[in-house]
Amino acid sequence: MEFWGAKVKAGKTLKVKPGENCLIHISQASLGKKAKKEGVSTLLYATVDDKKLLLGTLSQDSFPHINFDHLLFDREFELSHSLDRGYVHFIGHQRNKKKKRANESSKVSVSFNTGKSVLQPCLESKTNLKKQKIHNEHSEEIKEMNKSIKELSEAVKTLQRILLTKADLPEEKEAPKDNEEKEDSCNFGCKEAKGNNEQTIFVKGFENLRPRNEIKNALTNFFASCGEVTRVYVPFECRNHLPLGFAFIDLRNAKGNEKALELNGSYMGGKELEVTMACRRDEYCGFIDFHGCDRCQMFLAPPVRNPSSIKKHRIYYW
Ligand SMILES: [Zn+2]
Repeated sequence: MEFWGAKVKAGKTLKVKPGENCLIHISQASLGKKAKKEGVSTLLYATVDDKKLLLGTLSQDSFPHINFDHLLFDREFELSHSLDRGYVHFIGHQRNKKKKRANESSKVSVSFNTGKSVLQPCLESKTNLKKQKIHNEHSEEIKEMNKSIKELSEAVKTLQRILLTKADLPEEKEAPKDNEEKEDSCNFGCKEAKGNNEQTIFVKGFENLRPRNEIKNALTNFFASCGEVTRVYVPFECRNHLPLGFAFIDLRNAKGNEKALELNGSYMGGKELEVTMACRRDEYCGFIDFHGCDRCQMFLAPPVRNPSSIKKHRIYYW
């Protein structure tokens, strides 16, 4: 068994032929560096015996990687995708046909790991091949598909966070390099991070083992009774994107703050909320045990004067 990998440029197809008596197993596809712009999504295709099969979708926002369980090729095939620019990486391995294990039959399976795979053809079965549908390239379709499986993906991510310790998490294969990408992944670089002021509300106590967006939406809905919610900032650890367990909320009209404070002690999703004004709670200005990334180290101010709280960094000012 040997490693196999290919890079398919935008607008190009890549012809691949397995070696004599060999199978190529494609196990993963991911967006190349230049394709990693917000909102970018692409369809992935393999053409075999003049049949064009849709393998799945990649989306920078939701599914920058797809894992394939049973994508095996025993004959020449062509890989392509619908990106306008950049490229897609395909990786896997090549191995001798005879080593095929009994359980690698021609079944179709779907991997829910990090992306959505629409079809996973095994070309050893012609019957199975006929069942594969050919999908038209259409950006609206991509959006629909991404939307419908986003919840599942988020749930899997949450599960992974619970199951994996930090040490077990796989290293990023391509660390984001340009500032735009770094800002997306940095707590202090995210767009909601700026804006705390004397009228900002501080909330904690909510269910924290959920994706940041879900927490944000839940808080937006919960505080809607106090007036228009203009900003919800759910701080997170830059390196693993885990929410830190508290949030800052701004209402358009500060008169709503009184109503918001009345929600102190109320329940959201079965969890009791603690609601206070952020600026009156000095300890909430600091992100206790926050490690941050290289980019946001500049926000880390010296420890507060009180030596007993030397581990607490007051790093957020307004
Ligand atoms: Zn950071």
